[in-house]
Amino acid sequence: MEDWRRILAQSVVKPKDLADRLGVDPKEIEDIVGDYPMRITPTVLATIKEKGDAIWKQVVPDRAEMADADAEDDPLEEDLMSPVPHLVHRYPDRVLLMVTNQCPIYCRFCTRKRLVGKPGFLKKGELDRAIAYLREHQEVRDVILSGGDPLLLPDHLLERILKSLRTIPHLELIRIGTRVPGSLPERITPKLCDIIKKYHPFYMNLHFNHPDELTPEVKRACGMLADAGVPLGAQTVLLKGVNDDPEIMKRLMHQLLLARVKPYYLYQADLTKGTNHFRTSVETGLKIIKSLQGHTSGMGVPHFVIDAPGGGGKIPLLPADYLVNLDEDSAVLRNYENRTFHYPQPGSAPGRELPMVGAHPSWAATGNGCDGGGEHL
Ligand SMILES: *Cc1c(COP(=O)(O)O)cnc(C)c1O
Ligand code: SF4
Repeated sequence: MEDWRRILAQSVVKPKDLADRLGVDPKEIEDIVGDYPMRITPTVLATIKEKGDAIWKQVVPDRAEMADADAEDDPLEEDLMSPVPHLVHRYPDRVLLMVTNQCPIYCRFCTRKRLVGKPGFLKKGELDRAIAYLREHQEVRDVILSGGDPLLLPDHLLERILKSLRTIPHLELIRIGTRVPGSLPERITPKLCDIIKKYHPFYMNLHFNHPDELTPEVKRACGMLADAGVPLGAQTVLLKGVNDDPEIMKRLMHQLLLARVKPYYLYQADLTKGTNHFRTSVETGLKIIKSLQGHTSGMGVPHFVIDAPGGGGKIPLLPADYLVNLDEDSAVLRNYENRTFHYPQPGSAPGRELPMVGAHPSWAATGNGCDGGGEHL
């Protein structure tokens, strides 16, 4: 057996094992695990420092999961946008292909809680149908392998999928979304890197939610993928009690950049049944973006998005304060220090006096030393 399979098999999956390792009463979680499976890899287990910390909350079942009777299983309506099994085609030029329901860990907040944990990988006949669909749909130039976690596929199955995809001439990009580097770094082997290298341009978006997830072994796994020429992005879910704090989020973004991973998306939590206890207000995410933009490397600022309930797709949000006013003469802008600037529109009357912009009440009151005057370009 490959090393990583042996390590995956050492994960905590039974309530009794969790009782032995973390002192949780197995009776508390038996019914939860019946509905929503648990798996905690050795790497993740070792990162838990204390009961209820940011890593614990992501992987240890909680009674609150059983409390959202009214929420929906599939709020993004992915099942309705699936023209052939396992393929979701929502956007004009790209599709998701779910190649497995298995994951290294079962995140308690998962949007696909309705699916994950079921055994098995995409079957040959299912792959053939997906490939036939893609071959016919010449508008698709980007395919994202998802699940579940595609990196739990054995090498030969992963390679079969990549090879089939590369027989489609109009397909430009292949991507994988994965939580494996952060939770089962042993899976990132030289052999896997050699396979992936053959299918460039190949991108990966890695799921990370907390700076403590970036252990030295995890960073080493990311480095191997980066050395294989894979541009690495990060996807982060904004989670109450885990990372809904500007300081934690800044540390996470810095750790990602150190691991050669560029923050890509910060997601507002979805409305998925069994996950509502993780939701934060929308303002929390906007405040976090404000705390990053301008204050630290722009490379470390992800796009904050809400995946619109009802299947609207990802919609980006920016703090409203940046654009104070926009008309045909000028844009009035506010920077990260709360100072105001004018940008004249092309063709706006030359030499015309631009309107004065007064102190904004919120920062006039803070007395933070800004001069408060409008600056002209
Ligand atoms: C997120 C997502 C994609 C990829 O979106 P990008 O913004 O291009 O990263 C594609 N299809 C579906 C259904 C998605 O949810
Ligand atoms: S790894 Fe991804 S798909 Fe799997 S449980 Fe976690 S969030 Fe869901």
